[in-house]
Amino acid sequence: MSEPLLWPRRLRDSIVIAGAYFGLGLVTLRFFAEHGLFPAPLWLPAAVAFVAVVLRGVTALPGIALGAFLINRYAIDASTVTSLVLAAGNSLGPYLGWRAMRRLDPSSFPFARRRAVAAFVIGGVILHALVTSLIGATVVTSAAGLGMAEWLRRMFAWWLCDTAGALLAAPAFLALLHPASPDHQTPEILRQERFLIGAFLLALALLFFLVLPGRGGILAGLPFLLSFPALWLAWRHPPQVAQPLLALSCTIALIGAVLHRGVFYFGADSRPLETTGLMAISLIFTSLVVGAMAAERRHAARALREANRSLTARVEQQSRKLQTSEQVFETVVQTSPDAILMTNLEGTITFASPQTNLLFGLSPDVLLEGMTFCQFLTLDTRALWANQLSELIAGNHPPPLELTAIAPQRPNFTIESNGRLLRDGQGNPRGAVVVVRDVEERRRLQLELQNNERRFRMLAETAPFALVFARAENGEILFANREAQRLLGVDAAAAHAPFAPDFYADPDEWNEIIGLLMRQGTLENREIRLRDRQGRIFWAIFSAVLSTYSDGPAILISVNDITARKALELTLRRQLEEIRALQATLQEQAVRDGLTGLFNRRYLDETLEREIVRANRDASPVSVIMLDMDHFKNLNDRFGHKAGDAVLQKLGEILRDVCRASDVACRYGGEEFALILPGATLPTALERAESIRRAVEALTLSPGGNLPAGAEQLRCTVSLGVASFPEHGTDGESLIQQADRALYAAKGSGRNRAVGAPPLSLGGPKSQTALPQLV
Ligand code: GH3
Ligand code: MG
Ligand code: MG
Repeated sequence: MSEPLLWPRRLRDSIVIAGAYFGLGLVTLRFFAEHGLFPAPLWLPAAVAFVAVVLRGVTALPGIALGAFLINRYAIDASTVTSLVLAAGNSLGPYLGWRAMRRLDPSSFPFARRRAVAAFVIGGVILHALVTSLIGATVVTSAAGLGMAEWLRRMFAWWLCDTAGALLAAPAFLALLHPASPDHQTPEILRQERFLIGAFLLALALLFFLVLPGRGGILAGLPFLLSFPALWLAWRHPPQVAQPLLALSCTIALIGAVLHRGVFYFGADSRPLETTGLMAISLIFTSLVVGAMAAERRHAARALREANRSLTARVEQQSRKLQTSEQVFETVVQTSPDAILMTNLEGTITFASPQTNLLFGLSPDVLLEGMTFCQFLTLDTRALWANQLSELIAGNHPPPLELTAIAPQRPNFTIESNGRLLRDGQGNPRGAVVVVRDVEERRRLQLELQNNERRFRMLAETAPFALVFARAENGEILFANREAQRLLGVDAAAAHAPFAPDFYADPDEWNEIIGLLMRQGTLENREIRLRDRQGRIFWAIFSAVLSTYSDGPAILISVNDITARKALELTLRRQLEEIRALQATLQEQAVRDGLTGLFNRRYLDETLEREIVRANRDASPVSVIMLDMDHFKNLNDRFGHKAGDAVLQKLGEILRDVCRASDVACRYGGEEFALILPGATLPTALERAESIRRAVEALTLSPGGNLPAGAEQLRCTVSLGVASFPEHGTDGESLIQQADRALYAAKGSGRNRAVGAPPLSLGGPKSQTALPQLV
């Protein structure tokens, strides 16, 4: 609750408590005073104070103190100081009583068990009254200046008065007001019973204490009869019904006693008030104890019901579980492909699943129970089974065991037995459950696999090339044959340790290879550079295939060292290049003239035919110039053969200069030369011939250069004959012939001139076209 609301509530509570204390105090005082009893023999506000502390704790104290101060100061007329001290005592008493009660029994509602009732009586009644009476008697006697004997008398009277008040009213108030007070759904029949018994109790109280006259004797014992309805109520009904009714009955009895009526008053010698008080105390205390016993019994019955219910639920659950596990067991036994057996401690079969008969080749109606498991085993494996059984009985978990079984119409076969210990209800070994499986096929496959593996290893070891088996994910080498160990420079022991990527000259290549393999599965004849353990880098041809190892992808690699082949390839390539160069030179030499560097006659013949074919196709002209040195024999004779050679070389240079890229200049033989001019017409060719003639004529060779020292200056001339396609011939031979004829015509007409061949129709060498001689 928030602070702003707390204080108004506390103030309201304090006013209510003070009002109740003051009001009830006033009524009690007035009632007893009117009948000559002052101070009152019974102080009901003590019950108000205690109930207030139980319900509100420390916060009830201001209200109690206020009520007590007001009643002492204004109703009893005590001095302010006395009233204040009494107010303190009347608050302290219930507070300490409440603390003591809580300490003795911390349960929230004070009448739910006997211990709580005792705690209430000791703390809430006796101690509470002791504290208030001690303080009250002390302050009153000391204020009046009275002696010790009077203090003792007053204290006792005060204590009795508070005790009676608290015991009479506090249980009723608490039962009505306490929030933890039990509130059962009451059946109609109990409601009626409550009404009837309650009415009966009150009627008896009225009859005994107000109606009947007191005469002593047997009549004085009648109130004992009250205990029947009182205890009946306390036993069968909750305190909020029983306690108020009882308090009311006792109040009636008190009123009767004060009014001197009822069976307890029978003259001046009788002490009706004290008798009533004792009766009230005994009735209330007994009914509280009986009520607590009933509550305890109800509680125990409820707990028992609860325990019973949960026990029933657990039993049901367990039996359901048991049923389920029985079903599961039945299903497993019926559907398992394995045989399931139970044996006792001696190994005698006590249960066998239908599959067992099938496994040992027996018809389903053969009863296995009573036989021993040993009967189905070969002699040499029986001891193994006996050992497994004794291990099981010893409480160990022996691993599955391979045994050899015998069965009619079947060769001996391998089975696997796997067992667990069975215990009885006391946990003692009772036997074993054994699951038996036919593993013949598995064993055969294993053997085959081992053989295959052996064969593979043998093949791999003897292979003439390197073989490596490596994990794909990290390249760890799982196997490397002898050749691989030799090639990579690792020994057999270390062959498994290294990682394949270490053997690549370029480590990235490994990743590339793995990527390719993962995509396409195989890799063939890839040339790579590897590095052996000693750091030597070499060329290898590499093939690989993606495979699997027990726990992931692996690759099988075959490697061939091709360093020697690579070296050979290099040498061969170099030699080939040399040969090619040589061939080119030879080819060149085959078509060139050694002295002049011009093409030779063979080349001319081939080229001319080709040019004519092309000219024919393109309808373009081709011309041929034939050239011959004039009087070259004389030149040789005069200047020597060397000088002649020099002149021929010079002429070669001139022809090369004159030639265009498409033209072809050749030494036709001796001192004769020929030129092919593709695209040139006869007049053009004649002009070119003339320019050559002029160049040669202008040529001067001086002694000291190519000429022997002391020789005179050398000059020479040439004669030229020109023929053109198509007018002078449609093939090379006729064209050369025509040009040659024109050359002879030039010689004949005085040399040092260029002459064109005559058109064929005109015929005859006499009608040559000759350019005028310029020199
Ligand atoms: P013509 O004007 O009629 O052609 O007279 P010519 O002397 O030039 O003709 P001829 O056919 O009688 O002589 C050709 C000479 O050319 C003969 C030969 O000694 C010479 N000769 C041929 N080939 C070579 C060569 O390679 N070097 C040298 N120095 N002389 C050569
Ligand atoms: Mg000649
Ligand atoms: Mg000549």
